[in-house]
Amino acid sequence: MSDGRRIVEALVVGGGPAGSATAMTLARGGAQVELIERQAGPHDVVCGGFLGWDALAALRRLGVDADGLGARPIARLRLASARRLVETRLPKPAAGLSRRRLDEALRNAAEESGAVVRRGLAARGGDPASLIVRMEDGSEIQAGALFLATGKHELRGLARPLDQRRRGAVGLRAAFAPGPKVAAALDGVIELHPFDGGYAGLLLQEDGQANLCMSVSSEKLRRSGGVRELLEALARETALLAERLEAAYDAAWISVGNVPYGWRASGCVPKLYRVGDQAAVIASLAGDGIAMALTSGMAAADAYRRGETGDRFQRGWSARAARPLRVAEGLRWAAETRLPRRLAMGAMGVAPGLAGLAARLTRIA
Ligand SMILES: Cc1cc2nc3c(=O)[nH]c(=O)nc-3n(C[C@H](O)[C@H](O)[C@H](O)COP(=O)(O)OP(=O)(O)OC[C@H]3O[C@@H](n4cnc5c(N)ncnc54)[C@H](O)[C@@H]3O)c2cc1C
Repeated sequence: MSDGRRIVEALVVGGGPAGSATAMTLARGGAQVELIERQAGPHDVVCGGFLGWDALAALRRLGVDADGLGARPIARLRLASARRLVETRLPKPAAGLSRRRLDEALRNAAEESGAVVRRGLAARGGDPASLIVRMEDGSEIQAGALFLATGKHELRGLARPLDQRRRGAVGLRAAFAPGPKVAAALDGVIELHPFDGGYAGLLLQEDGQANLCMSVSSEKLRRSGGVRELLEALARETALLAERLEAAYDAAWISVGNVPYGWRASGCVPKLYRVGDQAAVIASLAGDGIAMALTSGMAAADAYRRGETGDRFQRGWSARAARPLRVAEGLRWAAETRLPRRLAMGAMGVAPGLAGLAARLTRIA
């Protein structure tokens, strides 16, 4: 054993929703758990901040009170394309909450559950055979079981086996103070604006700011020449989006590249459990990534406690995520492609309940 190497029964790398849910569940089950998060404090994340009813149920199971964190209730879905507007009631109550607020609350809850949470420390790489993880400060941790929860980010030696030929989407997010008209229009609503090659999503978060997130093909963003140019082009296409974007041009954007929508992990290492986006990546317009992150974290911790291998857990989770991912991929294709989008918007104009059905089919059971 080299100097500075410690042994930890259960090591969780990444303190997003998946990592915190895992750490909390493991610690409550009596395991010795350490969670490593590279950010030192509360931080923004590329995410729409939409909590579906399955995410709210998962938070309740974890004992985290979304209302207490200021989550704003959402009851309606509004879909707005260049030609048509469809509005319908969501099948069940949902909410809007910034990830800055949610993730910090979850990390605190993991700590209160008995997990050691080390903030401001990044893991640099790991070895799947020995489960030794190297930290940026040069120390090493030998994990009895390793829970990989680094989300969209890869850890050297443990990277997801993604198809490198496929260019994933780019995710963008900004928050801005909406004018009174836009604030009133967004009250109680999740609004989605599909367009060729992507979509924009808008909701109000706990502080009254509008959370604007976008997913766009890297090709479209490149051709547009930048985020501002993309927003200007979209505003020219759609009057409603132009009104919504008015206050967004000078907002501070954060981004993430190459999001591999539709990808699912298959297992192979007995004591390695991938959770959240490391296990499966649902198309973001379905608004179910947080629910999947929380639920997979709890499921992986339960599997570990039962003595189930990471390999078996991974195959089970992949099967469980299959339907929501496939439906979400179909919806993403229809939303981002002109003719199918027109047909789908037309159908939902006649039967708005179809949008609610799509929302139901993309939830994780
Ligand atoms: C544009 C867009 C919009 C979205 N909108 C929604 C939405 O409205 N609702 C919804 O439910 N889902 C949404 N999603 C999906 C959602 O963001 C993800 O599914 C979810 O964040 C996955 O959680 P996670 O815990 O797996 O990963 P993450 O949330 O990415 O968390 C990973 C954590 O690991 C840390 N980390 C990374 N690398 C290291 C390292 N080497 N060492 C230590 N720590 C590390 C990071 O700092 C981070 O805190 C959206 C996604 C995109 C791209």
